Order: sequence, then C-alpha cells, then structure tokens
Amino acid sequence: MHVGIFADMEGSFGIWRMRQCRMGTPEWQYGRECLTKDVNCVIQGAFDGGAQQVTVKDTHEVGFNCIIDKLDRRAHYVGGHFIRPTFFGNIADYDLVLYVAIHAASGTPDAFFPHTHYGIFSEFRVNGKLACEMDIYGAYLGEFGVPVGFVSGEEIAIKQALQVLPWAKSVIVDKRKEAYTSGKESIQYINEGRNRLRETAQTAVREASRMKPLLLPGPLYFEAVFRNEALANTFNTWRFNQTQNMVEWDASNMIEGFEKFNKLTFFPKNRYPFRRPLLFLMRSFYRIKNTYFVPTPNSEGASLT
Ligand SMILES: [Zn+2]
Repeated sequence: MHVGIFADMEGSFGIWRMRQCRMGTPEWQYGRECLTKDVNCVIQGAFDGGAQQVTVKDTHEVGFNCIIDKLDRRAHYVGGHFIRPTFFGNIADYDLVLYVAIHAASGTPDAFFPHTHYGIFSEFRVNGKLACEMDIYGAYLGEFGVPVGFVSGEEIAIKQALQVLPWAKSVIVDKRKEAYTSGKESIQYINEGRNRLRETAQTAVREASRMKPLLLPGPLYFEAVFRNEALANTFNTWRFNQTQNMVEWDASNMIEGFEKFNKLTFFPKNRYPFRRPLLFLMRSFYRIKNTYFVPTPNSEGASLT
C-alpha cells in the first residue's frame, strides 16, 4: 500500500500563532520543527499500519516547510505544486491520503488562520455551502480515486473536515499559546498528542479499505468572496462572472472547478502559458532556499520537547 501524507502547517502541535506559519521568519523555522515532528509520527503510524511506501507531500504555501534532513528517511518527499498529472503531483498510485495539520475554512469565526486555498477570501462556498480545504482537495483527490482517511488540526477544522469525510480518523490539536508554553505540562501534552498522531494514523491505514474517495455530485457552483473589491479586480484576470467582491464559476466536477480556482489564485492569464516552467523554478528555488538559507529558529518561550 502506498500512503500519501499531505502536510499543511497551521494545525501542527506546538504552533499557536500566524507568524509561525509565515515562511522565512525565525518563528516559522521553529514551526517547521514542530511540523516535521508531527509528520514523522504520522509516517511511523503509516508504516505500523501496513504501508509499504510513504510519500510526504508538503502543501503549505509554496511547499518545503518540513525539514527534509530531519524527516524519516523511509518516506519519499515532494514539495510544492504541479500542473500534471495533478496539482499535487503524481498521485495515481496512492491508496490513501493522511492530511496533517489542517486549518478551518475561510470565514470561520474564532478559528486559527482560517482560509480556503489562499488567504484572500473572506468566504468560499461550493453549491452554497461554506467549503474548507477538505471539501476542495478531498473531492479533487476523490475524483482520482484517492480517499482521505486521516486529519489533524484544531477542533473546528476537524469538525468541518469530518462533515465531508465522516469515515476519516482524526486528532484534535490545541491552538492556545498556554498549551505550548507551560513547561512540563506542555511537554506532556505535546508528547501525548504526537502519540495520538502515530496511533490514529496507524488505525487509518489499517482500516484503509473502509475509507471512501469523496465525490461531490456535479454540477458544482463556486463562489469566492474576496476580502475587498480591489482584490477581486486584481485576481479576476480570466474575467469570471463578478459582482463587486464576489467571483463565481461553474464546473461539471471538482477537477474542472479546481483548475478554474487555480486560474483565479495562482495562474493569472498572462502567466498561464508559462505556468509549468514557473512552478518548476519555484520548486527548485524554495527547495534550495529552505534547505540552505534558513533563519535561526525562535521558539518564543515554547516548552521544547
Ligand atoms: Zn497552510
């Protein structure tokens, strides 16, 4: 069995503020260590559950958040975004995806850094329903026949994910500062949490046959509400239907709908013909930058494990 471990960042144990997820900062360098430890526990769990092959797909921002040197060597590592065969690279032979460190949907009140795909939307809906990234990525993977069977992150993010992935196993992660700066208690909380990641990933892989590819019946109607109208005007280079700060489009399935979503967020019309070489250059650049040119970590008083 080939297990894909997808890594976002916001929902890691040890992370309590936005700056720890902002690439290039000393706080992010600390956040990377947290994420890498979480991912290693999920890798271990996947192998314990019966995976023969594990690929870690790093999805936060431009990818390359995990510290590659510190990742479990048994896992193959892939960072950044792709055009073909899919946005997530070659996923054709994945049997299951475990999604680590997720966050809540754009427009979720009181959530930690809530956003859907990109931080420019105040709300994002599919067929009238507030959509989190698991609605989008889960259904995109689903159309390639790949189920998502595990999620970890803050409670509201897990609640949203389980609405569309009711079969998935989950681990809830505290986002309050006190959880990570209270000395021995924090160390115990983090250690127990990471044990849960390992055990829950193991269960998810062992029960892989019960996990279902998520399929949203089409046609699909997407509504992206931008934070303001100026942003919508800037990003809507493909001239999708727009009313003030709301941009909308239709698609017959998620693969098509997600492609249009990426045109809106990542591939403005003038760059579209060059998207493949541009993504290749970005992946190469950030792999080198985030491996060899990194700040000294600032843990800001975290109780380190
Ligand atoms: Zn992220």
